[in-house]
Amino acid sequence: MMKKKITKIGVLTSGGDSPGMNAAIRAVVRTGIYHGMEVFGIMRGYSGMVEGDIQKMESRSVANIIQRGGTILKTSRSNEFLTAEGRAIAYKNLKQFGIEGLVIIGGDGSFRGAQIFSNEYDIPCIGLPGTIDKDIAGTDFTIGFDTAVNTAVEAIDKIRDTADAHDRLFIIEVMGRDAGYIALHSGISTGAEHILIPERKTSYIDLISSLKEKQGRKKLVNLIVVAEGEEFGGADELAKHIKKQIPNQDLRVCILGHIQRGGAPSCFDRVIASRMGYHAIECFIEGRHNVFIGIVNNKMNYTPLDEAVKKKQRISEEWMKIVKILAT
Ligand code: ADP
Repeated sequence: MMKKKITKIGVLTSGGDSPGMNAAIRAVVRTGIYHGMEVFGIMRGYSGMVEGDIQKMESRSVANIIQRGGTILKTSRSNEFLTAEGRAIAYKNLKQFGIEGLVIIGGDGSFRGAQIFSNEYDIPCIGLPGTIDKDIAGTDFTIGFDTAVNTAVEAIDKIRDTADAHDRLFIIEVMGRDAGYIALHSGISTGAEHILIPERKTSYIDLISSLKEKQGRKKLVNLIVVAEGEEFGGADELAKHIKKQIPNQDLRVCILGHIQRGGAPSCFDRVIASRMGYHAIECFIEGRHNVFIGIVNNKMNYTPLDEAVKKKQRISEEWMKIVKILAT
């Protein structure tokens, strides 16, 4: 069966923000207009859909945004959209503008919402993975991860200087409630001695004995990078535990927090956001619906929206071996 041609689309950013979302919006708007489509910006994710806060976008609406962090469309989490009534209102609003398809830039939660909405109302949806956590299977990278991890690296490098000056142990908490990728990448690239992530159980006995052993041989500068979702409960809890086990350990905690979400997107994030945004429109043209776009081995990869939400990436043994060997 021929799928009907989509001529009016809406674009929104939803869930947690990530640097590079603006570059993706720009690519969607300009590629859509290039192909003769009308493109509408939906404000504050699904909230704007429910409230009818929708505006027509022109090529100039997205001028001068590729280098800006955040999202010009704003983002939010919408409780109304979780309900069938809320989604019915959202659909009515889309109809008023004649919107026939949606591009959703967000994380797995946003994709879940898109899939449910599309099942109910036959509005094709294309997802673009915008999340700093890189926790979606079906893509090697997500929009925002590279920027966030580089922000973390810059901050940890600075902490290393002061740790070195005082011969101190620093526990640095980075973002990642379910995924340890920011911790893993920033930890490896700053030479952290230990990296604690939610995907793997940490042996605290081993951790304490390793710290004692290092103390014994006067390896005094230590960085421990912890993902916020790590089972022990983040940096503060870990610090309490270490203090109890090694009372003479000079240690400080630093929680990097929201600086990891902001700032100008890196070149890498701008490029993948532009490629993904371009391909979102290609998907509508080709009739490839209800998928999210990823990049795997530098090629575009399309994963059904409902599958994207089920999988989590695994962190291989090799990564942990690298951490161990390089930080002795
Ligand atoms: P992220 O997209 O970053 O993972 P969330 O999980 O908070 O962020 O999801 C963003 C929004 O997507 C939610 O606020 C909600 O409006 C919508 N959403 C998530 N899950 C569902 C669902 N099962 N049904 C309908 N909407 C959903």
